[in-house]
Amino acid sequence: MSLLPITLYGDKILRKKARKVKEVDIKTIELIKNMFETMRNASGIGLAANQIGIDKQIFVIDISQVEGYEKTKPMVFINPEIVEYSKEKDFFEEGCLSIPDVRADVLRPQQIKIKYCDTDLNEHIIEADDLLARVAQHEYDHLLGILFTDYVEETEKGNLKNNLHAIRKRSVEFTYPVSENIDYILRL
Ligand code: ZN
Repeated sequence: MSLLPITLYGDKILRKKARKVKEVDIKTIELIKNMFETMRNASGIGLAANQIGIDKQIFVIDISQVEGYEKTKPMVFINPEIVEYSKEKDFFEEGCLSIPDVRADVLRPQQIKIKYCDTDLNEHIIEADDLLARVAQHEYDHLLGILFTDYVEETEKGNLKNNLHAIRKRSVEFTYPVSENIDYILRL
């Protein structure tokens, strides 16, 4: 397994809709293992493939390090699609490994139904609520080219803009490996 550099705010691949996975080969399995390792090394609880420069519809989640969720198993979502959202929404403070040290309250539906494939490309549909629903929506957004800071009102962006600019310029300190430039796309 190996750690992969994490793409940062400003990197083009984070703004692109990710491509569907058509087959899961040994390289894809290796990629998923590396995604888990890269995410855990950065103390993250979710990671989308484009966050390590891979243009594929895959994200991983592991919330078992969060108090109260110790029994939740790590999960891989391939070609995910959120098919239902609850009417009830709430605010929750989010962060992102591609936007280090920036946090903002984001309003999202409390529950979702999400369809996805496992590593055998068998389709599943599950209901997720609470933290799992929150993380899954954040990661699903990544695959659509959406970042959580997009939900912050323009009038409230103030300091946020300076922080985003600093990240884009790599003029902040990173505690994990990050991509070197905005055109970074890893080729499989
Ligand atoms: Zn993120």
